[in-house]
Amino acid sequence: MNPLYADMPTSIFEEMSLLARRHDAINLGQGFPDDSGPTDVRQAAADAVLHGSNQYPPMMGLDVLRHAAAEHYRRFQGLDIGAPNILVTSGATEALAAALIALITPGDQVIVIQPAYDAYVPLILRAGGVPRFVSVAPPDWRLPIADIAAAIGPDTRLIMFNDPMNPVARVFDAGEVDALADLCVRHDLIAICDEVWEHVLFDGRTHQPLIARPGMAARAVKIGSAGKIFSLTGWKVGLVVADSALLGPIARAHQFLTFATPPNLQVAVAYGLGKDDAYFRQMRAGYQRGRDRLAALLTDAGYAVLPSEGTYFLCVDLAASGIAQDDRSVCRDLVAAAGVAAIPLSAFHVTPPDDHVIRLCFAKQDAVIDAAGARLAAYRRTLAD
Ligand code: PMP
Ligand code: GLN
Repeated sequence: MNPLYADMPTSIFEEMSLLARRHDAINLGQGFPDDSGPTDVRQAAADAVLHGSNQYPPMMGLDVLRHAAAEHYRRFQGLDIGAPNILVTSGATEALAAALIALITPGDQVIVIQPAYDAYVPLILRAGGVPRFVSVAPPDWRLPIADIAAAIGPDTRLIMFNDPMNPVARVFDAGEVDALADLCVRHDLIAICDEVWEHVLFDGRTHQPLIARPGMAARAVKIGSAGKIFSLTGWKVGLVVADSALLGPIARAHQFLTFATPPNLQVAVAYGLGKDDAYFRQMRAGYQRGRDRLAALLTDAGYAVLPSEGTYFLCVDLAASGIAQDDRSVCRDLVAAAGVAAIPLSAFHVTPPDDHVIRLCFAKQDAVIDAAGARLAAYRRTLAD
């Protein structure tokens, strides 16, 4: 038995969702919207189940989806790619696993920016990689370019780059993305770009994919997720974009992980990627309203809310809110006593610089946000007494 897995706790998302059910709490922990998602996209999936093929689709993905994805990324991000640059996987999670298995040679160092999405480190370790950690810090969560440069050594081969970044809700700016591209080119690094939140951006921001930067087309692996693009998080349909020299080995890993992804969901995602710009604008505007609603309630209640530039999440700085307890104790208290589940950011750190920030999901109906806000305000008052 591999001790890495034998001793591994369940993910913080599963842990908090379980506690939320046990305490009948409002679940603002695990990130998922509480509406049912676009009807036409779901209808396309239902039609494909009833009237389309339910047998193995091609390992690389259905042509209709590979073409739609290439066209979608050309339309929204100006990428000069075609269907041969696209691989369809069973969620971004499988894409990450396939990319890390395929691209890491045991002993390779992989730069990981903390707080890092929870799947990265176990997958890197299982592939034989050696994570080297650098950190972003509140309240600005700026990309630590000097620390990244200092962490690069002769064995460094890859960097994990999550933009927009979960859990800190940061959308990196052009200067940060340029500086990272420059480092990758100078040190001959491959960037695994986890861009699952590419469409969930606020305040007029646009997504700046690292793969589009000079010198990056042949050294970036861009990963998207239909779950996030269409607010259907249970739909594990991932999209990998890469140059053929990188995509080939990743597809070889994918063929022995899942081989293929349900064809009906692929058909529906292909349909959805062609939806007009208004759909994507409205989706963002809806989440932005949720963000503003929760942020206002929390600010009124005396919490120090950090800016959220994208994703379904905002973070609260406990120390800056005058709360002395660490983030895990606060989350345990919140779910049991206040009836609201949140995620402690220390769960995303291996080397812990921070234990005073929690993450809350605002992708909820107004009434749910209001009820959670009232409970969090009441909890804050108990601390003030
Ligand atoms: N990466 C990040 C940063 C995520 O937030 C998530 C899920 N929210 C994933 C990967 C996994 O995506 P999927 O559900 O498509 O596997
Ligand atoms: N990505 C989701 C989040 O950040 C959780 C995904 C999961 O539960 N594995 O909340």
